[in-house]
Amino acid sequence: MNHVIRLKSRPIGTPQPKDFEFIEEQKPEPKDGEVLLKTKYVSVDPYLRGRMRDQESYIPPFQLNEPIESGIIAEVVASNNDNFKEGDFVNGMLQWKEWQTSTGNGLNKVDPDKASLSAYLGVLGLTGLTAYISLEQIGKLKEGETLLVSGASGAVGSTVGQIGKIKGCHVVGIAGTDEKLKLMKDRFGFDKGINYKTTDDMAKAIADACPNGVDVYFDNVGGEILDAAMENINKDGRVINCGAISLYNETDVPTGPRYEGTMVRKTVLMQGFLVRDHAKEFGPATKQLAQWLNEDELNYEETIVEGFENIPQAFIDLFEGKNKGKMVVQI
Ligand code: NAP
Repeated sequence: MNHVIRLKSRPIGTPQPKDFEFIEEQKPEPKDGEVLLKTKYVSVDPYLRGRMRDQESYIPPFQLNEPIESGIIAEVVASNNDNFKEGDFVNGMLQWKEWQTSTGNGLNKVDPDKASLSAYLGVLGLTGLTAYISLEQIGKLKEGETLLVSGASGAVGSTVGQIGKIKGCHVVGIAGTDEKLKLMKDRFGFDKGINYKTTDDMAKAIADACPNGVDVYFDNVGGEILDAAMENINKDGRVINCGAISLYNETDVPTGPRYEGTMVRKTVLMQGFLVRDHAKEFGPATKQLAQWLNEDELNYEETIVEGFENIPQAFIDLFEGKNKGKMVVQI
């Protein structure tokens, strides 16, 4: 039998286990031109929360009583497709199923001898690409500048901070535990860290950690932390709106201060970023990330949860900050 995870109800507020449903179905057989895939690693990502809402977005919402999909590394266990052979490993947007068939469309082969399979969902996957491409295109870091990043010990944030150090910047990260701040300094080389859960005055904490102001703010969380960063933004500052996890579970989006005056006075650029719009740049960007990894300029951390049945909880745990680095589920 095959196990499948479907969206049972659209979460209200923080997602709950009851919003997910486990069903059993027959293990599929590959038809002509298809491959049979065995799931090995499942990526759980904050943006999946947006797809659980019934609203128009850059990607269609999940349908109720249908399997959820995300980035998955799978093994080809049978192939009727000339482009893939048994034993290949592939990366693709696949369904939360232990077994599934595919025509091969949208699947990319990955090499387990070059990097661990799970790394293709993190530092060598969409999270690494998000960090690198958005910094290149919007951040345009210059040596000696100050880079502030929120969600700093997570998958995207930890890569962002390290790229900042490679570019010779003063890097300050914001995260939710002191243990994460230690990881950011010891393993990722950040200069300073701010624990937003134990800091009363975020704007002052940022001012203290960034004595020359903030040249680039990489925003993974939105909300009040973005407001505090804007109070410290420099002339010609750049703000990369990558994500807003602090708002993903809100039912009414809270209002905040207005930035128009700051943006005019300081001639700030604030730009949203979607990695899926940049597929043409994935090749060279992956090459650069892989080179930094090989040269030990870039480190990465993973929180690996085991077991197909634990996929929904691993996803829910992202909103509690239970991960360090990329959260993946090993099947
Ligand atoms: P992640 O940072 O590895 O995991 C999420 C982290 O967010 C948690 O570990 C937690 O760390 C923090 N968090 C949770 N709730 C929070 C809150 N209310 N306020 C502040 N921080 C909170 O996830 P990721 O995959 O790297 O994604 C990071 C952000 O980038 C997300 O917003 C995601 O949607 C976005 N993203 C965007 C793109 C794109 O193309 N635009 C692509 C990938 C990811 P703490 O312990 O520090 O709270």
